[in-house]
Amino acid sequence: MAAHTVCNLILPGKRDSSLIYDCVVIGCGVAGSVCAYMLSNNGLDVLVLERLPEFSEKNCGGWITSRSVDLLSAIKMDTRELLAGGSSGIKRRLAYHPGGSPETTVSTGFFGFGTTRKNLNEFMARQASGAGTEIIFGQPVHNIRMRNSYFEINEYLAKKAVLAIGARKFDSQVKLKSIPAFAISEIVTAGAVFGTDMACQFFNVGSLLPHNYQSERNYFWIIPIGNDLWNIGMFFVTACKNMRKQYNLCRSLYVTQALANVKTVIAPRESTLGTIDFSGGICQCTAIGDFAGECDPNSGGGISGAIESGIFASKRLLSEMTTVVAK
Ligand SMILES: Cc1cc2nc3c(=O)[nH]c(=O)nc-3n(C[C@H](O)[C@H](O)[C@H](O)COP(=O)(O)OP(=O)(O)OC[C@H]3O[C@@H](n4cnc5c(N)ncnc54)[C@H](O)[C@@H]3O)c2cc1C
Repeated sequence: MAAHTVCNLILPGKRDSSLIYDCVVIGCGVAGSVCAYMLSNNGLDVLVLERLPEFSEKNCGGWITSRSVDLLSAIKMDTRELLAGGSSGIKRRLAYHPGGSPETTVSTGFFGFGTTRKNLNEFMARQASGAGTEIIFGQPVHNIRMRNSYFEINEYLAKKAVLAIGARKFDSQVKLKSIPAFAISEIVTAGAVFGTDMACQFFNVGSLLPHNYQSERNYFWIIPIGNDLWNIGMFFVTACKNMRKQYNLCRSLYVTQALANVKTVIAPRESTLGTIDFSGGICQCTAIGDFAGECDPNSGGGISGAIESGIFASKRLLSEMTTVVAK
């Protein structure tokens, strides 16, 4: 077993391999943290195992929509902490449809926050930890076995297991059934030409390109994520050969007119935008988030889908466990 560390922002662990946890959650992303937080708040002994040794930046637009903020507020997570940590409140949204009928709309309201992914993940993990969840980093899980009626996950035993590993295969046991969308994104530092409270979306960008890639759902984004940082990226409804070329073309068309003195902080990366379309169970585990196909790739609104599925699964697990205790 690889050496592991307990994250320093986590409560001192009561880690003890003879303990039978009520639930082990695999993956400390959005869905896993929410689920663990809910279960711990309801008095369960919860352990989260995260493969990464620590959180780092990941490929994401960083837009926590107002729907996500509402969901987090409903479960009493105070998202103002994100703003205090340097994230950007998004109060204006520019939507630009250059392809078909030229239409530019600027709406005002509350459109949520823009943040770095590292900041979001740390915030979510702190919430779970504060509720009593134990989190161990540097603990990739590759197999889940049943021992008597318990789940055996690495060296830990649990009554319930939750798979929250995002849009990835879990070893060879789950096949990638659908890859509905792709995205490529980059974090840049730039002086604001648009307001730092304004997120921009350029729709139907494909029609500008020689690829003749037609889809209303194809778009390019520019999202303020605090501290003069911007997340720029492009969403593709299906993969195509020259995604990077298309991305670079959109970057040169839009970013230079929207931002000044752009410098790359994190180079562009391509990745799938949910979902694994998981159906069926691995050892009767509960699957949540992107892994369970619970993100909405058409709108890029994966974070709200992950939050919702974490909440939903925790309620179901709590009711199952309460029923068992009551019997
Ligand atoms: C380029 C891009 C841009 C996006 N932009 C946005 C956006 O602006 N707004 C939005 O709402 N959504 C966006 N999304 C979607 C959003 O990021 C996902 O839908 C969301 O992160 C899904 O959450 P999750 O908890 O299911 O998975 P994740 O957040 O991916 O978390 C899974 C966790 O499990 C861990 N893990 C994986 N395998 C193992 C293992 N074997 N053992 C232990 N741990 C493991 C991972 O390290 C990770 O920490 C974007 C996605 C992409 C790719």
